[in-house]
Amino acid sequence: MPYGMRIVMGMKEHFLGLLTEDPNPKRIRRGISLALLKAFLTPKGGFSLGADKRYTLFLYDHARRFFGGKRGVLTSLFAPTELVYAFGLVPFSLEMFAGLAAAIGIAPAMLARADSLWISTDLCSFHRAYMGLADAGLIPTPRFLLATSHTCDGTFKSFSLVSHRLESPLLFLDSPYEDTEEGVRYLAGQLLRTKERIEEIAGRKLRTDDLEKTFSYSNGARDVFERIGEARKASLPVAYGDDFMKLILAWGNLFGNPKGEKIFSGYLDEIEKRRAAGEFVPRAKRRILWLHLKPYFENDLVRYVEKEHDAVVVFEEINQVYWEPLDIRAPYESLARRLLSNYWVGPLRRRIEKINRMIDEYGVDGVIHFAHWGCRQSNGAVRLLKDAVLKKGIPFLNIDADCIEEKNLADGQMKTRIDGFMELLG
Ligand code: SF4
Repeated sequence: MPYGMRIVMGMKEHFLGLLTEDPNPKRIRRGISLALLKAFLTPKGGFSLGADKRYTLFLYDHARRFFGGKRGVLTSLFAPTELVYAFGLVPFSLEMFAGLAAAIGIAPAMLARADSLWISTDLCSFHRAYMGLADAGLIPTPRFLLATSHTCDGTFKSFSLVSHRLESPLLFLDSPYEDTEEGVRYLAGQLLRTKERIEEIAGRKLRTDDLEKTFSYSNGARDVFERIGEARKASLPVAYGDDFMKLILAWGNLFGNPKGEKIFSGYLDEIEKRRAAGEFVPRAKRRILWLHLKPYFENDLVRYVEKEHDAVVVFEEINQVYWEPLDIRAPYESLARRLLSNYWVGPLRRRIEKINRMIDEYGVDGVIHFAHWGCRQSNGAVRLLKDAVLKKGIPFLNIDADCIEEKNLADGQMKTRIDGFMELLG
């Protein structure tokens, strides 16, 4: 191990020890910074030389801005961050906090803390981890919290608890069940009132120019992100899916950020360069579609699927662009349409149609669903998803595990099931 890296590792261990003994937000900031520095110095992904480093630096800078000033806003993963950026504020998703806590190794202590508050262990560990972090005083007080109910039923309660603990107001968007014109109007009205509430908190009116700029950044990032998805449809893959799955940690914060388009472009450029140079993934015999998430603590699950079995995750459900570009002429309606076009809104039929389309467009041989512990939204649908995928003649594997809590991932048993599944794919 290079000398510089040994120092970073040693510092990281040291800080984790301190953090467990005496938690405080300054220390978690250092822990997150060191984890990102480690990722920067020892990139594991296939995009190690260019795009990954830019992405890691973005995360580092974003965390620095969030922790360093008085402009932080805690958001839920699919919240309309454009409304936050347009006021010059810095959104940081609570789910990202939980993911980073898993990545730096403090999630078990935070989950234990949530247990001690009588928060049920059968709830999603993202929620439990960030409730534990807030209770431990490890999350700095934001200007406000902004969350929506459109993809996750538990968000209102967990965000309410964090808002109460941090004594910071919660701005909550109550999304209707279905994507209808009436639903769009209902949600657009709430988005307008949310904007007015932010104006009160920020002490200034929203400038149309700022919103227009933010929409343009968001649409630019969306456009490149969509082109990445298109490029990955090619019959010869140039990158492993594991390298794209980490994007989700900051994904929600890139739309509306001036750097979003550039960061996604780094990945697109590298894909195109590799294709032009004929640098394809070796022995990519099996093409996998990955549903839902992956673990964020140190583990080799996706690598195992890909590298041990001559397979490539050709696409991930989470990385699809399901919304139309935002329209500044009808800003609140446009944001409402984006929220309501999410594949988790409305009847399950919508998600299944999108999965079927991805199977066809990406030439998929097998589908893997990562059943994250406690996620009612995704796990409650597994049987119907499985039936729909099998009906298309495509094998389906459900992996029961956890994105945050390591003890819920039975490594040996899971790998045996993956081995059996891959044999089935031939
Ligand atoms: S994994 Fe499921 S339950 Fe957990 S935050 Fe995401 S949508 Fe909500």
